[in-house]
Amino acid sequence: MIDLRSDTVTRPTPAMREAMARAPVGDDVWGDDPSVAAFEAAVAERAGMAAAPFFPSGTQSNPAALLVHCQRGDEYIAGQFSHIYRDEGGGAAVLGSIQPQPIEHDPDGSLPLERVQAGIKGADIHHASTRLLALENTFRGKVLSEAYTRRATALAHEHGLATHLDGARLFNAVVASGRSLAELCQGFDSVSLCFSKGLGAPVGSLLLGDEAFILRARRWRKTLGGGMRQVGILAAACHHALENHVERLGEDHRHAALLAEGLGEIDEVGVHGCDTNMLFVTLPEAHCSALEAFLAERGILMAAAPVTRMLTHLDISEQDVRHVVAGIKAYFVANAARVDARLGG
Ligand SMILES: *Cc1c(COP(=O)(O)O)cnc(C)c1O
Repeated sequence: MIDLRSDTVTRPTPAMREAMARAPVGDDVWGDDPSVAAFEAAVAERAGMAAAPFFPSGTQSNPAALLVHCQRGDEYIAGQFSHIYRDEGGGAAVLGSIQPQPIEHDPDGSLPLERVQAGIKGADIHHASTRLLALENTFRGKVLSEAYTRRATALAHEHGLATHLDGARLFNAVVASGRSLAELCQGFDSVSLCFSKGLGAPVGSLLLGDEAFILRARRWRKTLGGGMRQVGILAAACHHALENHVERLGEDHRHAALLAEGLGEIDEVGVHGCDTNMLFVTLPEAHCSALEAFLAERGILMAAAPVTRMLTHLDISEQDVRHVVAGIKAYFVANAARVDARLGG
């Protein structure tokens, strides 16, 4: 199947499975797993941060960071469509009694700084205390500019706020921008990275920060049930991805651009910008379910909706992209009359 629904659907390659099988392991809750230690150290060094505990998921590492930065009754500022606010089951509220202050995004995915500033509450006892600014890079496949993150993190720090970066796809930003991981982490007090997206590992996130932050994050990880035992087999998969699958993200970006170009030739499909491996397209609503079924018969999985997200990743080749474009073209050729009728043409 050619699965465009997400870049989480990648499966471990044979070489990754071999690295997993070979990995020396120990009990990581006791700090004894050499593969986990090696992986954590490799990423911390590359990010220019002190330490980086290994987490089962970004949906655990993000709230762990919030729990360190904020106390009960505190507040964090995040984007209205950020994963940390919208896609984690309200973890910060459920687990930490931490309130979000969501901010509308600008079209480029950034949070307008005047709105961030307006969202920061003063010392008035009526308000929750604003403690943290959380950004996301990439956001919906878009890379935040270095100038923006520098200004945003400086603004937060000026107001005594900590800064967290949800970098689930930060390596895509590294490859797309040509800047280093350390440069993209600059200005952030904590950073969460995912290895289970386009990097192709089956499981795994890291939470980066300084020593004092990490000590508390490790404690929260245990509380949240994220202390794992012989987990070196998973860290080894992530380490393999770090060493072998970062540069190749550029291929995914080229494939997404190719997909955008091909779909751009189809009148019924609206193509919206794409910086990295994520493409947003608009489709005629009346055709979504029929298109989805038509493509599924041709081995293509896509969650067709009026606004549809399509992702390229490790398991999608250039040939697959051409097959997808041909499939969507074929559907609209076969159904042109219905589209014309619907449009009143
Ligand atoms: C995927 C993702 C996460 C974490 O997801 P998990 O599947 O729990 O690892 C966090 N933030 C963003 C932006 C993501 O895309």
